[in-house]
Amino acid sequence: MIKNLIKWSEQTFVHLPWRKKRTLYRTLVSEIMLQQTTVGTVLNHFERFLEKFPTIKSLAEATEEEMLMAWKGLGYYRRAKNLKLIAEKIQSDFNGKIPEDIEILTSIKGIGPYTANAILAIGMDKRALAIDANLERVIARLFALKDSKGTKLHKHIHHLFEKKEIFSEKVSARALNEALMDLGRTFCQARKASCDICPMNKVCLSYKEGNPLHYPVGTEAPKSVISFNLKLLRVIIKKGQKILVYKKSNDEWLSGQYEIPTFTLQSEDKKCIQYPILSKKIKFESYPMIKTGITKYTIENYLLEVTEEQFYQMNFPKDCVWKTLKTDSENYSTTTLKSLKKLKIIGS
Ligand code: SF4
Repeated sequence: MIKNLIKWSEQTFVHLPWRKKRTLYRTLVSEIMLQQTTVGTVLNHFERFLEKFPTIKSLAEATEEEMLMAWKGLGYYRRAKNLKLIAEKIQSDFNGKIPEDIEILTSIKGIGPYTANAILAIGMDKRALAIDANLERVIARLFALKDSKGTKLHKHIHHLFEKKEIFSEKVSARALNEALMDLGRTFCQARKASCDICPMNKVCLSYKEGNPLHYPVGTEAPKSVISFNLKLLRVIIKKGQKILVYKKSNDEWLSGQYEIPTFTLQSEDKKCIQYPILSKKIKFESYPMIKTGITKYTIENYLLEVTEEQFYQMNFPKDCVWKTLKTDSENYSTTTLKSLKKLKIIGS
């Protein structure tokens, strides 16, 4: 049955660029990109990123800003910084060659058991399982494993795999891992199992039991997602072909990117401390506005162009710098670009 699953996976996902052409470096980059990001989004960025940084060395030698620019659109920028640190370490300590040993791989800061096993299984086709929440769920359902979700279940899966009590068939480890990942992304999702059309339904024990969604045990009922409205004032200060911006720090959203000075006007979430509160009351409702969103916030961004002098009276508490309006060479946040376009300061 697993061979049928692999056949389906290979036929259906042959187009994915990280599967068409394989190197350990491409596997490392794709696995880190795919954490917390959909295949569709990674598809739009993967080759472009690899063109810019074709080797570990090129990535290790890039500046953080170049790296973050190339990562733009993939979100979760901490992963980008991690990937760069990994590349630097591999370049300096292993002469640019990705180690092929699990102990050495996991000793590199930023490479956890999941990524190390993915490099082994997918990059090198060695017998290993890259267990993340996706694989944990799929395997728990396939074999009706009753351990509680998390460490206990991971350990049990590893044990069964080591002892060849699961997946003992002679199949490629790479193909097996990719097929299970594909299964978890398509038929066997966290809140929906399409068992009737799943290629594994004849052998899946949780399907036979009639309760696939009960696995993995301990899965909490989905909490209702809390979201907050946030109103921000985005301030544009222009001088010739330059604008005033500030660099987002490590503890802020979009760290490393440049953003136009921004104040909080109103926030439903009193704990949101991303932007300073504008001390002066203003009637912002008639200003041009763009809507954006980040994590649990729905944001209305009100745009105001002011002179340099007016801006300094607003007491923005961060250090600002003048940057060129050549938007393709500066690492501006997406909202900054949208704001500049809305006010026709740059073209669309
Ligand atoms: S039969 Fe259902 S529960 Fe089992 S692997 Fe397929 S989709 Fe998941």
